[in-house]
Amino acid sequence: MGWKTLDDMDLRGKRVLVRVDINVPVENGRVTDDTRIRRIVPTVHDILEKGGKPILLAHFGRPKGKRVQDLSLLVVKPALEAALARKVVLAETLEAAETGTDEIKAADVVLLENIRFYPGETANDPDFAQRLAGLGDIYCNDAFSAAHRAHASTEALARLLPACAGRLMQAELSALEAALAKPERPVGAVVGGAKVSTKIELLENLVNRLDLLVIGGGMANTFLAAMGAQLGKSLSEPNFYGTAKDIMAQADKAGCRVLLPVDGLVAREFAAGADHEVIQLGPDTVLDIDQMVLDAGPNTVELVKDAFAGLKTLIWNGPMGAFEIAPFDTGTVAAAQEAAQLTRDGALISVAGGGDTVAALNQAGAADDFTYISTAGGAFLEWMEGKTLPGVAALGG
Ligand code: ADP
Ligand code: MG
Repeated sequence: MGWKTLDDMDLRGKRVLVRVDINVPVENGRVTDDTRIRRIVPTVHDILEKGGKPILLAHFGRPKGKRVQDLSLLVVKPALEAALARKVVLAETLEAAETGTDEIKAADVVLLENIRFYPGETANDPDFAQRLAGLGDIYCNDAFSAAHRAHASTEALARLLPACAGRLMQAELSALEAALAKPERPVGAVVGGAKVSTKIELLENLVNRLDLLVIGGGMANTFLAAMGAQLGKSLSEPNFYGTAKDIMAQADKAGCRVLLPVDGLVAREFAAGADHEVIQLGPDTVLDIDQMVLDAGPNTVELVKDAFAGLKTLIWNGPMGAFEIAPFDTGTVAAAQEAAQLTRDGALISVAGGGDTVAALNQAGAADDFTYISTAGGAFLEWMEGKTLPGVAALGG
């Protein structure tokens, strides 16, 4: 934890360059989900209260180094002003920000136009970063979700000015450190979702650091099939049977207990309310050619709940079944509610991340009770894979 926070900086009269992630979904010129905008409010308010002037740096979509009018941050400005309860002035160009129009000079909060309009941003160009540095006295990174990219506004700039983490970055890093860097033990994880192939590095890192790994979802099929099970038309990746065996061997060596499904909800079609049955699963299982495992079965859920009871810390990435269609959300929902209950009881620290994971936990009504829910997607995964995130490293983290 080498990084500084806003508490360590003297902000009075200072121009604070704040990297934020307000890359929100927009339809017909309106922001349809302002979650990311609301999450940066504490940082901006804090800077204002401490007498600083926030100058926000943000990207929007992928303009690829060119000015694309459809990707102007102008569309986000009203939602940003509403969330901050303040007027925000958009500096349409770097030149405007540098010269400072009267409006920009008078503004409480300045928003620099889409930083990815400049090719120097994604190139992490030192000259471009130097130009950005000229706009401020202090750098504050509040965009953990962009920290896995070494871009000028996330990496090079941090090395040119006194730098600190914003409140959201601070919360995210603290939660992730509490979950994996120095967790209260025993610490376990649920890793589910569709495919082993997208989560190899995650699994390899986790088995070497955790006491327990619950493997669920489609990827559990690959593990069972690697051990000899014939799972019909279940989602499975034959090219990764070797990987699955390697991960089991690594877990064994590292003393990480791996929990695989012992039963599943099996159907012949993936449709709402499809006919389904509970089938016991193991290396000897042979399903019909048109059957597929779509969710964890009741015995598996009981084993998972028992395992949770022995943990102090739980990390969750990936649903335990094809939760989008009932009843194949049953296993994920039951396990999520158990984790939520243990967290409410003060018995568990629970940290979750991943696009579908967050959707599944919301569907289970469990998300609010989790200790921390990361909305950072790619950055969350890379952190859990044990990778150094350039944007965090540049803060001294
Ligand atoms: P996240 O976005 O949280 O990282 P993933 O993208 O890895 O999660 O996985 C989510 C997807 O995995 C969901 O669309 C879900 O339907 C699918 N999935 C989970 N279990 C199964 C299964 N048994 N068969 C098919 N798909 C599954
Ligand atoms: Mg996903």
